[in-house]
Amino acid sequence: MSESTIRIGLVLPDVMGTYGDGGNAVVLRQRARMRGHDAEIVEIPLTEPVPNSLDVYTLGGAEDSAQRLATRHLQRYPGLQEAAGRGAPVLAICAAIQVLGHWYETSSGERVDGVGLFDVTTSPQDKRAIGEVATQPLIPGLSQPLTGFENHRGGTKLGGDAKPLGRVTKGVGNGVGDGLEGVVQGSVLGTYMHGPALARNPELADYLLCRALGVDSLPPLELPEVDQLRRERLRA
Ligand code: GLN
Repeated sequence: MSESTIRIGLVLPDVMGTYGDGGNAVVLRQRARMRGHDAEIVEIPLTEPVPNSLDVYTLGGAEDSAQRLATRHLQRYPGLQEAAGRGAPVLAICAAIQVLGHWYETSSGERVDGVGLFDVTTSPQDKRAIGEVATQPLIPGLSQPLTGFENHRGGTKLGGDAKPLGRVTKGVGNGVGDGLEGVVQGSVLGTYMHGPALARNPELADYLLCRALGVDSLPPLELPEVDQLRRERLRA
């Protein structure tokens, strides 16, 4: 591994990584390599502290009990918070949004303090949101519709410091009736989209890579298979 290698943190894949969310790190590595960069995935299991020195971090979704273990670990070893503090990009999927908020309530009604990187709170809703979700992005730098698969009971309310990632055109999204999906705060970005999200949304993958590399844009990639997957999913 050379000094210029892009190091991609896959945070707690042993407890957070439902629906192949670990694939987000694989997509980042592959899209970086296709642009001629060295890139490696650094897996951070529950037995190790979270390093603050990586270039980009990804966290996946989880069931309630696994989510609680992850929350405790991130509070005990605040490497992710330190990295976000210096502007490192972070992608948080589903349960990870909830973990990175101020607090979340589990389906059994227990309130758990979160990590506080997002100005959001999460409470269980009457109905579980399951199925395809699509949105129109609301943040500068993204213009293509976002697509994914959601499965969550938590509904996430955004506070004043948190911006939505997109406006829902299909599905439920954050689930509190405001028609919004995901959250963006500083360099930290969250979405309820599984898929994995970055395989379905290459523009979002490059958005994170640009921030990891400190560049404004990357050379486009011709990947007809990815275009076809997007067409199928957006039609579904
Ligand atoms: N346990 C959380 C919820 O149901 C997150 C689920 C997930 O990550 N898929 O809201």
